[in-house]
Amino acid sequence: MSASLIDGKALAAQIRGNLAERVVGIRSAGLVPGLAVVIVGDDPASRLYVNMKKRACDELGIYSREHALAASTTQGELLDLIRSLNEDSSIHGILVQLPLPKHLDEQAVIEAIRPEKDVDGLHPQNLGALVAGQEGFVPCTPAGIIKLIKSTGTEIQGKNCVMVGRSNIVGKPTALLLLRENGTVTICHSRTVDLPAVCRQADILVAAVGKAALIKRDMVKPGAVVIDVGTNRVDGKLMGDVDFEAVKEVAGYITPVPGGVGPMTIAMLMENTVKAAVSLQANR
Ligand code: NDP
Repeated sequence: MSASLIDGKALAAQIRGNLAERVVGIRSAGLVPGLAVVIVGDDPASRLYVNMKKRACDELGIYSREHALAASTTQGELLDLIRSLNEDSSIHGILVQLPLPKHLDEQAVIEAIRPEKDVDGLHPQNLGALVAGQEGFVPCTPAGIIKLIKSTGTEIQGKNCVMVGRSNIVGKPTALLLLRENGTVTICHSRTVDLPAVCRQADILVAAVGKAALIKRDMVKPGAVVIDVGTNRVDGKLMGDVDFEAVKEVAGYITPVPGGVGPMTIAMLMENTVKAAVSLQANR
């Protein structure tokens, strides 16, 4: 058996196409959605992601403004910038590209972003809303993961869902979204005992660890939906957390890396930016 590929690139293109049409309508009503992207230092991966986000904005008719700051930027300078963006009426979404250089306090920076402009969904107010089942911004990668799973026609309700990884950016919010969809959710991490046995229970398996090929064929239940969030550079090649070639022989559906979760993350960022613009305008 060979798994069906979940084409994140195609799904993301479809979502961006729908959003572009929506933006035309919004702009004709006099509102131009605006995203500020803040990048600190010169990490090549961060630069690549920022460029992709700016390109997506251009394609959709969203105004984007880049703030590229030197690696030596102080916490105070960064917080001043965030505060000015919070007040800037042409900016509806603020995205700080992570990770930040080590001397900066990432959590304090996230908390400085006005929750209504927190299109990455990482502010404690938005994460809290997710826990409480309230309206707020959902982090982009987890939101994209749910859409990828649904695109297979798989119903999440009642399924055994295993989330490998418990970061605030991916693991925890994805687990909460799976729970919101009435999945039965298990969260694994570096202290999990017998990860293979837990993973084998999964009808839906999501891996967000950052270790190439951690998820082996014998850890996957036949027919499972496998979502690979990992992005690992191995000999210059991008690889996921799943041993793709072997696992695709047993899974029912699988995302490739690249071309799975990554494009969806950007599409969800665009969706959140449009949502922020519309709701800030409505609440003015
Ligand atoms: P973190 O490093 O913040 O979290 C990794 C998680 O994996 C931790 O919870 C850690 O456990 C767990 N872990 C580490 N080793 C093991 C192990 N051997 N078995 C089980 N769990 C383990 O990473 P992120 O969540 O930020 O990112 C994960 C991956 O996803 C990375 O490769 C990242 O590049 C990628 N990514 C991709 C995105 C995309 O759009 N495609 C977006 C965001 C991330 P513990 O908590 O115990 O330390």
